[in-house]
Amino acid sequence: MSQTLQVALTHAGQRLSAAGVEDFRREARILSAFVLDIDMLQVSLRLEQKLNAEQSAALEDALTLRMARVPMSHILGYRDFYEHRFIVTPDVLDPRPETEELVARALSAPFHNVLDLGTGSGCIILSLLAVNSSARGLAVDQSANALEVARRNAEQLQLIDRVRFCQSDWCAEIAAERFDLIVSNPPYIHPAEWEGLSPEVHHEPKSALTDYKDGLSHYATLAHQLHEFLAEEGRLLFEIGSDQGEAVAQILRQEGYRDIAILEDLDHRPRVVSCRPRTKKRTNLSK
Ligand code: GLN
Repeated sequence: MSQTLQVALTHAGQRLSAAGVEDFRREARILSAFVLDIDMLQVSLRLEQKLNAEQSAALEDALTLRMARVPMSHILGYRDFYEHRFIVTPDVLDPRPETEELVARALSAPFHNVLDLGTGSGCIILSLLAVNSSARGLAVDQSANALEVARRNAEQLQLIDRVRFCQSDWCAEIAAERFDLIVSNPPYIHPAEWEGLSPEVHHEPKSALTDYKDGLSHYATLAHQLHEFLAEEGRLLFEIGSDQGEAVAQILRQEGYRDIAILEDLDHRPRVVSCRPRTKKRTNLSK
């Protein structure tokens, strides 16, 4: 029997809530709008509308996935991040609001040529290129599937002419080039912490979240490799876990980087570490 949107919404909310979904009311609305192919703002105006069999079946499928705690982005196929909507698949890290801090900090000074390591969906570099229309960049990932998602996002955002892609284990395959901005949100979660994260996170690529070591090993690898790629007055910005500021700063200090700063988000949580390259002079001095 066909049900109204109002009834479908109530049932959907109850089932999501029972499955432990925190924001169940909002998500019920988003999923309903998704299967009806309408804007979420339209939902309240259409509460009396009857769902046809196809729409009810689509809602049932979406709810089944969400109750299994599949991330919303995998069901909808996208995530809104910074100023744009990004295609998201299980091959890439689901863009997170905290990463918008990295984008905002990167945009606080001019740049012409940006390198993004571990680009995933491309949300960082493409957000940067969308704002800075005279810049170009290189997006790197070890996963060919992730790069394909990033490429689709670049096409969708009409940035494909200003971004190149390179499949590489960090810097291993990147041709010699200097960048005046380097950004990365590497996998930084300690494997023990990963176990305890929400069920949604376990649907994401594990290698995009943890280094399987101490959470810090990728920073050390990158800091070491990036001397060859950072322009003389360039900036290097890493996203960090909120308890990793001092440890990452220490890694950068040991590598000789200068102007190291731990930057906080609006909630005063350390979120980004930034630095500049070692000076030529300093490389010849003992640290
Ligand atoms: N911020 C992500 C999380 O806490 C981690 C992203 C990462 O490891 N780079 O889920």
